[in-house]
Amino acid sequence: MTGALASPSEHARQVHARLLKLDGHLDAPIHFMRQGWSIGERHDLSTDVAQLDFPRMEDGNLNGGFFVIYTPQGPLTPTDYDRVFADACRRSEEIDATLAAFPDRIGLALTAQDAERLHAQNRLICFKSIENSYPIGDDVTRLETFYKLGVRLAGPVHSRTNQLADSATDAPRWGGLSPLGKEWLGAMNRLGMMIDPSHASDAAFDDMLSLSRAPLLLSHSGSRSVFDTERNLDDGRLRALAQAGGVLCFTTIYLSDLHMTPERGALMRKLGLIHRLTPDEQAALARDWNALDAAEPMWTAGLDQFMAGLLHVIDVAGIDHVAFSGDFDGGGGIDGLADVTDLPVITERLIEAGLDEADLAKLWGQNILRVLRDNEAAARP
Ligand SMILES: [Zn+2]
Repeated sequence: MTGALASPSEHARQVHARLLKLDGHLDAPIHFMRQGWSIGERHDLSTDVAQLDFPRMEDGNLNGGFFVIYTPQGPLTPTDYDRVFADACRRSEEIDATLAAFPDRIGLALTAQDAERLHAQNRLICFKSIENSYPIGDDVTRLETFYKLGVRLAGPVHSRTNQLADSATDAPRWGGLSPLGKEWLGAMNRLGMMIDPSHASDAAFDDMLSLSRAPLLLSHSGSRSVFDTERNLDDGRLRALAQAGGVLCFTTIYLSDLHMTPERGALMRKLGLIHRLTPDEQAALARDWNALDAAEPMWTAGLDQFMAGLLHVIDVAGIDHVAFSGDFDGGGGIDGLADVTDLPVITERLIEAGLDEADLAKLWGQNILRVLRDNEAAARP
């Protein structure tokens, strides 16, 4: 979250503004219940940590995306399952309350067609997604509850192995998906919800790819040949994903090592609980965050590395199989791509690299909507 370097040309800005632009993974709901804060008002990274709000999106930078219901991994006990299920349902209600406060500016999308309609109405698009299906516990029928709440994308696992799948960043327990994880996948397909392998281990990705009837959507992942970490996808799996019709939303995280110091860890914990901070404490958090970014950035990569990585995944997977995610408000944001206001520079760089407007339309939104349509078509109610 440092200052922008870029100033895209007027032509690039105009092209960017008229495309339908979605982000695969927006952690913005962590801000929805903040005291004295509204997503309807404009904020600035110099005084506030939030990387998007409606005015910054409405300027033509971003039309919407998947607003995340995230629950951190905890113990695998019935009591904890019930607790986090309640937490996830509450987060969904908070999203609903936010949408209800701005009915003329944003709406909930349940289908690809809804997204097109909202865009035509000049309203922002809110899809709901689940990061970590831990809250379903051992009861896959809870997915139906999430479906009824409007969720259309879910990943089985986050940064620690759980009851459903091995995590990319934890010791394996199942060698991929667990037996319950395979049930989870069947229920996802039946409901027509998109399956998100971001954060899952290679073996779990392989299981999802081979078992799913419908294409996968990696909501926020990178490329292992750009930066070698388990959290990123290797080129062979990227090709296999594309062959099965899937899409990878290329993200700003893990283009370089995560520089995680005790200070950064403490600030991230504060950020996760920002809804409990007073406005003064929130402002202090932004000051401390910016001061630490100036001294030791969390990610050393910047816009140039992001663009090189994006062009690499387009080269390997093909333009029909790549989309975008900043991982904004969830650890994303790098020098030159600090918040949603910087997105037009990606369009400018891609035009310079030879992409035409049809290519850009796919990358910015149509690929995601195609995967959603394919999942809707594969549903069996
Ligand atoms: Zn994540």
